[in-house]
Amino acid sequence: MKYKNIGVLFFLMTGTISNAQTSQSIQIKNNIQQNEFQIMESFKELLAIPNIAADPVGIEHNANWIANYMQSKGIQKVQLLRDDNTQTPPVVYGEVITPGVTETVIFYAHYDGQPVDSSKWAKGLHPFKPSLYSNLISDGGLPLSWPTKELGFDLQSRIYGRGASDDKAGVMAIINAYATLVQLHIKPTINIKFFFEGEEEAGSPHLSALLKNHKSLLASDIWVICDGPVHQSGKKQIVYGVRGDTHMEITVFGPKRPLHSGHYGNWVLNPAMELARLLASMKNEKGEVTVAGFYDDVTPLTISEKEALANIPSVDAQLKNELGVLATERNIPLNDALQFPSLNVNGIQSAGVGKYSANVIPTKAIASIDLRLVKGNDWRRQQEKVINHIKAQGFFVTNKEPTDEQRKQNNKICMVVVDDNSYNAQKTSMDNPFAKRIAKVMQLGLGSNPVLLPTVGGSLPLFVFEQELNTAPITVPIANHDNNQHAENENIKLKNFFEGIQIFTSIMTLTK
Ligand SMILES: [Zn+2]
Repeated sequence: MKYKNIGVLFFLMTGTISNAQTSQSIQIKNNIQQNEFQIMESFKELLAIPNIAADPVGIEHNANWIANYMQSKGIQKVQLLRDDNTQTPPVVYGEVITPGVTETVIFYAHYDGQPVDSSKWAKGLHPFKPSLYSNLISDGGLPLSWPTKELGFDLQSRIYGRGASDDKAGVMAIINAYATLVQLHIKPTINIKFFFEGEEEAGSPHLSALLKNHKSLLASDIWVICDGPVHQSGKKQIVYGVRGDTHMEITVFGPKRPLHSGHYGNWVLNPAMELARLLASMKNEKGEVTVAGFYDDVTPLTISEKEALANIPSVDAQLKNELGVLATERNIPLNDALQFPSLNVNGIQSAGVGKYSANVIPTKAIASIDLRLVKGNDWRRQQEKVINHIKAQGFFVTNKEPTDEQRKQNNKICMVVVDDNSYNAQKTSMDNPFAKRIAKVMQLGLGSNPVLLPTVGGSLPLFVFEQELNTAPITVPIANHDNNQHAENENIKLKNFFEGIQIFTSIMTLTK
């Protein structure tokens, strides 16, 4: 095969950003456009295969489809990797090793999706019958018939279906980036490994073991994770870290049986009121968590991280407008707020409301609490701080329903059930040389600087890559921010999808 890589050649000759590099980008863009019909046909086919963790047949079907598709694009060593347990959803693996190339990047995406409730999807949509709309449906988007090859696709249109954005778009963009280079005879400058997971939405229960079992196969310089949305401004972004996550369920107990609020109000302690007081004691009016030591372990931001945060275009006004909120909890920009650990109430329950309300003093009140963690936090230590805070408010804390004896001895009782299925934050240094080169090459391919985000608000168990392989992951998402991932009406804007393919071609032709 005759290879050419004008951009790299010119770069080596001049050591500067070149027009040739731009011409390669144009060539790539044109090629993607020429192939968009076939790419979209295949994307539609993949989206029609149900990909819910609870449906192992569907998961296998997806894995086999992807493996065949990879083989059809000339990817080598395509195989299904599993943990020792043969029942687990497989990782679809493949690689392209280029002679003389020493550096290796693993591209990650996942093909499984969140559970679906078809009845909640907009009229005319079905999670596994992908359909094309002129725009976001809630913005007046109308159904489009599938275009002919000659007509082509409108880049503002969206394809709706489970996995459209999260994360089958990632799988398709990565594979087609390589296919584009092959068609254009452009030699990748890195060895490429493909890693498509099948149980990310189920919490990746076997990922750690699988990485450990395939350590040498998965040797690389860096992982590029394609998952999640791009920046709300619409600009492409690189994310260097994710927050960790842990949950706690807090139950405050009242009388052993529900009491008449007329006969007993003003006399017995009301657990809903006690819980409200307890929760309110955890944050001040400035939105700061008042739990002792809550922010103590946080690793300070580096100079590069502070600079990156200052350069992020503000979307606060746009988001406030979109969400119908006037003020924010902490009077700081969104991305600054995400650099702190957080404490949020996910839900509160005590007796009934509305048509279920009765004149009672409830027996208990329950709150689900979500703690997000940043670099430096340890999830067990963070839980412990909250438990100590509850004790400091005068509660006897137990992890089981209180006994009669405990009720006799303690006025205020709180049961705390902690979630052991928790994990810490992960962050790759923004000064990581490989990550820096990726940011640079994305800028060249796109013609504009991507947003560099030290830590995204959401959580992913990315620490396993560091833990098992001692390697750094960075995330390069491609989906539009209003993609409804995890919910009904999931979609991806075609502009994002096709630009995503181009972004990965840039990374696959990374220069030194
Ligand atoms: Zn995802």
